[in-house]
Amino acid sequence: MLYDIDVLAFDADDTLWANQPYFDQAELEFQALLSDYADKETLERSLYAKQMKLLELYGYGVKPLTLGMIETAAEVIPSAVPGSILNRILDIGKELLEMPIEILPHIEETLSLIAGKYKLIMATKGDLVDQVRKLRRSGLKDYFHHVEVMSDKKPENYRNLLRRLEINAERFCMVGNSYPSDILPVVQIGGKAVYVPFHTTWKHEVYTGDAMLIDGRRVFQIDDIRKLNELLF
Ligand SMILES: [Mg+2]
Repeated sequence: MLYDIDVLAFDADDTLWANQPYFDQAELEFQALLSDYADKETLERSLYAKQMKLLELYGYGVKPLTLGMIETAAEVIPSAVPGSILNRILDIGKELLEMPIEILPHIEETLSLIAGKYKLIMATKGDLVDQVRKLRRSGLKDYFHHVEVMSDKKPENYRNLLRRLEINAERFCMVGNSYPSDILPVVQIGGKAVYVPFHTTWKHEVYTGDAMLIDGRRVFQIDDIRKLNELLF
């Protein structure tokens, strides 16, 4: 059971609504677009490496993916990148900004069950404009007391957030689908966390460290968001 919690924070992408399937689809379209120039593995490797560098400059979201696709195209196409390919890449990026908001099963009923009992926060990484727009389109906005679009989800980012909102880490619980971003850093600063895996995870968010800490006291894992309400005491 989760005791003594005042504030519950929810990750957004692949916790509240589906996100990664659209990014996966965008990457498949990109690979098909450049299939005359490079194989799938080469494109995958190059795009990932470029995105990792671009993240430092632009933060998370559609922007580093779009720019990474352009840089990858420039790398694998020996002559100048044809305008038609550049335009298609830009469209793939824009289509991601307009992705349908598909709320994950039982999210709304769970939020409405717990909203009156806890202060709810949405804490997401990514592009500010894009994430705020997705929240507005989701219709979930009114459940949250506060929305934080974080530049990263490292322990210091969470520490700053809690300090600013005057939340005691022990009374804070984060709910999310990324063990490295939503669970581990929160536990490291003394908070609690509920890990809700999603069926597909971006390589960058896949945990590769020591055994995951799921102790059933401060860190929980559930396969269905409805179980969150059962955990809360
Ligand atoms: Mg997520």
